[in-house]
Amino acid sequence: MTIAVVGAGLIGSAAARHVAKAGHEVVLIGPGEPTDFAAHQGAFASHYDEGRITRMNDRRPFYARVSAASIRRYDEIERESGVPFFTECGALMTGSSDYIAAIGAATAGLDVESEALDAEGLAARFPFLAIPDGHTGAYEARHAGHISPRNLVAAQQEAARRHGAVRIVEEATGVAPGRITTPSQTIEVDKVIVAAGGWTDDLLGRRALDVYARTVAFHEIGPAEANRLATMPSLVMESDDDIYILPPVRYPDGKLWLKLGGDPTDDLLPDKKAITDWFRSGGDAARGEYLTERVLQVIPSLAFESRYHKPCVTTWSQDRLPEIRRLEPGLIVAAAGNGAGAKCSDELGRMAAAVATGDET
Ligand SMILES: Cc1cc2nc3c(=O)[nH]c(=O)nc-3n(C[C@H](O)[C@H](O)[C@H](O)COP(=O)(O)OP(=O)(O)OC[C@H]3O[C@@H](n4cnc5c(N)ncnc54)[C@H](O)[C@@H]3O)c2cc1C
Repeated sequence: MTIAVVGAGLIGSAAARHVAKAGHEVVLIGPGEPTDFAAHQGAFASHYDEGRITRMNDRRPFYARVSAASIRRYDEIERESGVPFFTECGALMTGSSDYIAAIGAATAGLDVESEALDAEGLAARFPFLAIPDGHTGAYEARHAGHISPRNLVAAQQEAARRHGAVRIVEEATGVAPGRITTPSQTIEVDKVIVAAGGWTDDLLGRRALDVYARTVAFHEIGPAEANRLATMPSLVMESDDDIYILPPVRYPDGKLWLKLGGDPTDDLLPDKKAITDWFRSGGDAARGEYLTERVLQVIPSLAFESRYHKPCVTTWSQDRLPEIRRLEPGLIVAAAGNGAGAKCSDELGRMAAAVATGDET
């Protein structure tokens, strides 16, 4: 069987690896990262970055399960590709007792190595963090931290290539059961998986998913501050804006950047033009400043040398679970990471591959 995967992002590249590994012919179709966002006219993606938080702990049983399954295969993906992407620096979630109890319930039976920390324990372990009153913590020292989404995509694609997958670096202009059109060709296959993130609805000619504008802020960290924050884990904190902060991560410019995000509002991007314009705009400067205020609340004495902000998008389904299903014979959709689709993308790709190959378990 020949299966085309449209969208060479986190979920699509994972699906390509799993389909190829199962012994089928695979064509992975999608563009690479644009070099100049402001001038780019085509599709962007939600993985053009070096840091995504990864953890098994989650309040939602589905995400705990698919994250645990994915994280337990990180070694396999690195081995099959030779491309490292995972930094095991730990992950901490803090919140009210209800929030922490929900994590415990969601991860029951998943064999997650999580340590409960009370306020004193948090202060002793992470003295540089100002944890809100009333919060306790769930801390995973192992099998958690951050991944480079760029490198995970590269790793999945390299592993898929070694299993025989073929890559076409083009945007699809049309998809139908068993057929994909690009500017240069029409490709006939047995089945098509559409995994085009925020561009999925546009390709499928429908309006099912919500794409939200997100701004992330980066703070440049010098050697002394990096040393002070050396034990910092990836951090998710219960809050109205769902704040998350990564420890300093080295970026391709050679510098260490501490990145955070958090969204007091969900700003809908209604169509492909709005999404493209958002990426080309460079993001929301006021939201960038808001995030700097927020990071200083959580790490009050953070010493940073420069800062900037960047746009991204997250893609949401109505039930807040990824949409992985057969739309019609020969056409499968695998989209909607719901802001959490990087760490668990390997399992989401495996599920999409299983729908396509008929090996659903
Ligand atoms: C700021 C930010 C922070 C996040 N933090 C985290 C985190 O800490 N942990 C976590 O687990 N998740 C996080 N996420 C979510 C995660 O990045 C997404 O869920 C994930 O990228 C979704 O994967 P995807 O494959 O669906 O989409 P993408 O990775 O965006 O891939 C979609 C692909 O489709 C391609 N495409 C689009 N149109 C076409 C077309 N016409 N033809 C062919 N290809 C096309 C694009 O080029 C792209 O490569 C974050 C997201 C954002 C924006």
